[in-house]
Amino acid sequence: MSETTINDTSYKPTSPNSKLDFASLWEYAPAPESSANLDIKERYELFIDGKFQKPSKGIYFKSVNPANEEELTEFAEATQKDVDKAVKAARKAFEGEWSNLSAKSRSKYIYRIARMLQERAREFAIAESLDGGKPIRESRDVDVPLAAAHFFYYAGWADKLDYAFPGKTPEPLGVCGQIIPWNFPLLMLAWKIAPALACGNTIVLKPAETTSLTAMMFAELVKDAGLPKGVVNIVTGAGQTGAEIVNHKGIDKVAFTGSTTVGKIIQKSLAGTDKKYTLELGGKGALIIFEDAAIDQAVEGIINAIFFNQGHVCCAGSRLLVQEGIADTVMQKLRDRLETLIVGDPMDKNTDIGAINSKQQFETINKYLEVGVEEGAEVYQSSCSIPENGYFIRPTLLGNVSQSNKVVQEEIFGPVLTIQTFRTADEAIEKANNTPYGLAGGVWTDKGSKIFKVGKELRSGVVWANTYNKFDPTSPFGGYKESGVGREGGLHGLAAYVNLK
Ligand code: ADP
Repeated sequence: MSETTINDTSYKPTSPNSKLDFASLWEYAPAPESSANLDIKERYELFIDGKFQKPSKGIYFKSVNPANEEELTEFAEATQKDVDKAVKAARKAFEGEWSNLSAKSRSKYIYRIARMLQERAREFAIAESLDGGKPIRESRDVDVPLAAAHFFYYAGWADKLDYAFPGKTPEPLGVCGQIIPWNFPLLMLAWKIAPALACGNTIVLKPAETTSLTAMMFAELVKDAGLPKGVVNIVTGAGQTGAEIVNHKGIDKVAFTGSTTVGKIIQKSLAGTDKKYTLELGGKGALIIFEDAAIDQAVEGIINAIFFNQGHVCCAGSRLLVQEGIADTVMQKLRDRLETLIVGDPMDKNTDIGAINSKQQFETINKYLEVGVEEGAEVYQSSCSIPENGYFIRPTLLGNVSQSNKVVQEEIFGPVLTIQTFRTADEAIEKANNTPYGLAGGVWTDKGSKIFKVGKELRSGVVWANTYNKFDPTSPFGGYKESGVGREGGLHGLAAYVNLK
C-alpha cells in the first residue's frame, strides 16, 4: 500500500491567510517573561542531611541555557562518597524522626511543600524554561501547577493509607533512590518525591545533569518548609552518580524515569538484589485518526501530541496513523496548522515550540532525520524562522515511511512526526502495536464502539480518546514492553512505595 506523500513542493496553503490565521493582522510583538528577579546562584552545592554541602572531590559541572548557549550556573558532581553520605542521612532520618512522626504531621509537611510551590510558582516556571528550553507558557501552565497538584494529592493520602489498602497494613520501604530525566525536571521530581513521602519513606534524588536548577530550588524550598533533615536529599551529577545510587546497598527502592537503554542497565544491576524498582522508560505513541473523526479537533490533538515540550515527552504521539480516505485532508490541515506555530525564545509567552534541551539531543534528532531520509522518508518542515543561536528544530513531518524505518521504530524525542496510512481498524492496531514500546496512544473517532475496540487492543499503558496529553495526579501512568515496569500516579503510585503486610 502506498504511504502518504508529503512532498514539500506539493504543499500550498489553503488560503493566502492560512499561514497566518493566528496572526494575519499584525506581527506578534515579543513578550518575554522577565528573569530579572530570579536569583540564580553562581553555583549550587549538594543537599544532604538538611544542609548544602560541597562535593567530596570539589568538582562542578556547567549548565547551559539551550536557547542561547550561555552558561547559566554550575552544579556539584556527587561521587560515591557523597552518595553514601546522602544514603546514610536518609537512613538515619527514616529510622528516627520521620518514622516517629504521626501520619497527620507527615501529611502537613507535604501540604506545606505544595503550597510553597504555588507561592513560588513564577520563579520555578522561569527557572524551568531558562534551564531546559521549554516554552514559559508550558512551564507556567503545566509543569509547575501539576507538580503542586501531585503534592496536594499525595498529602491527602498520607494519613489515609489504611483506606488505600483495605485489610492490609502498609509499611514504608525505607530509603528510595530516585533518578529523573530532563524533559519535565520539576514535575518528575514531584511524581517521585510526593508518593514516597506520603508513604513514610526517605529519599535520595538525582536530577538530570542538563536540568538540575529547579531540583536545587526545590531543595531550598524543602529547607524553608522545615522538613526534618535527611528526609529529602538531592545530589547532582551525571550517569555515574545515578549508578552509585542504584548500586548502593542502603537503597531499598529505585525509581527511575529515563531512556530504555539506561533502564535496562539499571534492571540488570538490580537483578538478584531485593531492591524494589519502578522504571518509566521510552515510548513511540501512535495517533489513530479514523474517517469519522472531527478532523479539526484531531489536527489540534496531533499538534499537542507531538509538539508539546518540543516532543521531549515519553508519551508523545510521534506516529500518525491516518485512515486513507481522509489522509489528504488531514495532511493539508496539518501543514496549514504547522505554519502557524511559533518556534523561538522559550521566555516569550507567544512561543509554541522552545529550544531542544541540549546540544547532544539536538544532534540526536538531526541524526534521526538523516537516517529517516536514507531509509526513504520524505521530510516536510514548516517555513517559520528560528533563532540563530541555541538549539532549535522546526516542526517536522516524515512521510513515505515504512513500518520498519528506524524513525517509526525508535524514539526520536523531538518535534518529529512520522505519517502512515491505514484502511481498517485492525490494520491500524497492528501498526500501532508494532514497535518495542507501549506507553501511550490516542484515537480519534465519532464512534464510542471504535474507541473501546482500539483502546482495548492497543498494548499501551495510556490511551486517550479524542484528546491527548491529559495528566492528573489521580490517574496511574506507566508502560508495557520496553516502556517500563510499574505505575506512577493515583493509588497505583502509592502501592509502589509500601510493603503490604
Ligand atoms: P536520555 O537518554 O533521555 O538523556 P537517560 O536515561 O540517559 O536519558 O537519563 C535519565 C537519567 O538517568 C539522568 O538523570 C541520567 O543522569 C541518569 N543516568 C544515566 N546513566 C545512568 C546509569 N548508568 N545509572 C543510573 N542513572 C543513569
